[in-house]
Amino acid sequence: MSGPKGRRPCRGCRGEAEITSEQIERGVGALLRSGRPLVPEPLYAQRLAACAACPSLLGGHTCARCGCIVQISARLRERRCPNPGGGRWPA
Ligand code: SF4
Repeated sequence: MSGPKGRRPCRGCRGEAEITSEQIERGVGALLRSGRPLVPEPLYAQRLAACAACPSLLGGHTCARCGCIVQISARLRERRCPNPGGGRWPA
């Protein structure tokens, strides 16, 4: 399997790798219970909208640039979009 623009995928990724919506929801739930600083809901929605329009988003959930599940990482205040040349998330 090839990553975006012909790049090699990370060693941990395989073409058959898939994550279910239930697994994502469990991850989000764990994050919400963790006490880590989160972004406000409107900013979270803007971040997810940017991901949805990004060619680096794989399967609707995984960022090919960092390997994160965006439904989880976009909630974290300290996270930044890893898009080369400038993040796609709003400030
Ligand atoms: S590069 Fe940024 S906008 Fe694109 S999927 Fe990754 S986190 Fe989302």
